[in-house]
Amino acid sequence: MKLLEDRILKDGVIKEGNVLKVDSFLNHQMDINLFNAMGKEFKRLFQDHSINKIVTIEASGIGIACIVAQHFNVPVVFAKKSESINLEGAVYSVPIESFTHNRTYNVIVSKKYIQPEDHVLIIDDFLANGCALEGLISIVHSAGATVEGIGIAIEKGFQNGGEIIRSKGIHLESLAIVESMNPETGTIIFR
Ligand code: 5GP
Repeated sequence: MKLLEDRILKDGVIKEGNVLKVDSFLNHQMDINLFNAMGKEFKRLFQDHSINKIVTIEASGIGIACIVAQHFNVPVVFAKKSESINLEGAVYSVPIESFTHNRTYNVIVSKKYIQPEDHVLIIDDFLANGCALEGLISIVHSAGATVEGIGIAIEKGFQNGGEIIRSKGIHLESLAIVESMNPETGTIIFR
């Protein structure tokens, strides 16, 4: 998606450790007009799927998911990062290793909010090694629900998450795929 790629080139900052900082428009300050264009594009890309729910993960996925959901006219459920190990029985729970924070979270969703008849679109801001998505897929499958597709704002194509998720046969769409980025020169190349 050219609009997103142009914005990454204009405002993205490459940090050490393969981290792309986009917090001036995507995951701290949020450009809602851009999110709206992204929502429209996801609606077009997933038009052949019947989707009745969007699932994302806190915190950065929530803003994008909410605007995308307006285009699908469906509710959003976000998985919560929980400190507690004493989880009550009425939740699905999965450990997820955080790429940016270098630690593992227990991620939970109440069993009330994902049901076997649900057809889910998973939305997140970034795809790196795929741990967050694997956790969300596992939660949806634990509920007996269907993953119709996955929509990602920025995929880092030089990490292996995209390959892992696509090899599962899941319809994955990333609006911008970064092929390479160089922290010294600031150069970003898209696929
Ligand atoms: P994964 O689980 O695919 O390794 O990483 C995905 C999660 O880590 C996303 O939910 C996102 O919040 C965070 N993340 C991964 N790479 C980046 C990055 O380069 N920049 C930012 N801002 N977040 C990232």
